[in-house]
Amino acid sequence: RLSPQLPGSGHVTLETADGRGDLIQGPKGRLDPAACEEANEISYFQFPGELLMRMLKMLILPLVVSSLMSGLASLDAKTSSRLGILTVAYYLWTTFVAVIVGIIMVSIIHPGGAAQKETTEQSGKPIMSSADALLDLIRNMFPANLVEATFKQYRTKTTPVVKSPKMASEEAPPRQILIYGVQEENGSHVQNFALDLTPPPEVVYKSEPDTIDGMNVLGIVIFSATMGIMLGRMGDNGTPLVSFCQCLNESVMKIVAVAVWYFPFGIVFLIAGKILEMDDPTAVRKKLGFYAVTVVCGLVVHGLFILPLLYFFITKKNPIVFIRGVLQALLIALATSSSSATLPITFKCLLENNHIDRRIARFVLPVGATINMDGTALYEAVAAIFIAQVNNYELDFGQIITISITATAASIGAAGIPQAGLVTMVIVLTSVGLPTDDITLIIAVDWALDRFRTMINVLGDALAAGIMAHICRKDFAQDTGVEKLPPRET
Ligand code: ASP
Repeated sequence: RLSPQLPGSGHVTLETADGRGDLIQGPKGRLDPAACEEANEISYFQFPGELLMRMLKMLILPLVVSSLMSGLASLDAKTSSRLGILTVAYYLWTTFVAVIVGIIMVSIIHPGGAAQKETTEQSGKPIMSSADALLDLIRNMFPANLVEATFKQYRTKTTPVVKSPKMASEEAPPRQILIYGVQEENGSHVQNFALDLTPPPEVVYKSEPDTIDGMNVLGIVIFSATMGIMLGRMGDNGTPLVSFCQCLNESVMKIVAVAVWYFPFGIVFLIAGKILEMDDPTAVRKKLGFYAVTVVCGLVVHGLFILPLLYFFITKKNPIVFIRGVLQALLIALATSSSSATLPITFKCLLENNHIDRRIARFVLPVGATINMDGTALYEAVAAIFIAQVNNYELDFGQIITISITATAASIGAAGIPQAGLVTMVIVLTSVGLPTDDITLIIAVDWALDRFRTMINVLGDALAAGIMAHICRKDFAQDTGVEKLPPRET
């Protein structure tokens, strides 16, 4: 059935006669040859941007595999100690909390547009039960074929099975009644009507495991992380593979550094192409503003309330005094958008102002700059859900869990350099089948948000050093003279 949706709106709707099936909506103009020509021109114009996206996607697999395997394998010598285990556990936990804060903020503020009241059933798309969504999540964690996982992910296929109403000859009485009549309105308007009491066909949904196109990032993350931990446990026997992964990681980072040169050029075309495609750019700009506010609110809640409160409850010390001590590092983070570049200043602040044991700072900070990025994790979760909202894509529970796991992993995989989170954002989007091209929507404000999230990344590392110094103070108490800095001169 092809019907005009709203007279004069220029939209047509194509749906099956029973109101189900695929609903195809689009501006009528798209069907015009002139509009097609225009669409072609836009796609040529978008080509430099398309190249950028291709580069990013090309880097996902080697980046995830090499960074997780080499990172987790090389941690082992230190994780055998109490400090190592506590630090890594604390980092993973706070990163996950940051993701949850982000998810809560984006669900409350809903920057991507008004919440859709329409259920999936009403929209004509088959429903997937939450049990199926959960099973898909677990299936994706354990891909049966690792090679296939690089281009396919599991997604349950739900097909409607229509049961026709019972025939008159069967036990049930016939229920198909048609009434024809005339109705007068205001004495002039005459209208025929028919009342059809035929029971609607009963529809049941049949679910079966299936795959869809798109990298199974979750499976690859789980596999690489497990491999990394096992390699670390193997000690010297694991060294060849660990060195290989370290070498691979270093070379991938070098490719990223080269690709970064192309970024500004590609980004200009990506944004311009997206604006040309948009029906109403002003509406998108407004949503983008709300998105930025959501990220900043989440960062404020996490950085100014959750982390300092955690510091206070564990150490019983004043977090404001501690944060004042690392203020210089936070400002450098704001200015450079790079937690790695800020590392020396964070180190100096912790030692000189907060009097943290040098041996603790020396371990906690570099590990934190590599794997602990609360701000980045929060932003990745918010951005992914924002993109889903903009596309009116309803995420199920399993997909939200996938986003929280992959956003945590993507923040671990992100380097402490400007806009590294934008690169690993592709991982989160791919994991739930969201359009990666829509990263372009958030690029315009990313340079600013990057500065704020880097501040929270640095703050998270610094507070972790403070907490670890408190927890492990007895372990480091005996041997203080050599490593500790002399008291600060006033
Ligand atoms: N710029 C951030 C950092 O250096 C990483 C990111 O989120 O892009 O910590």
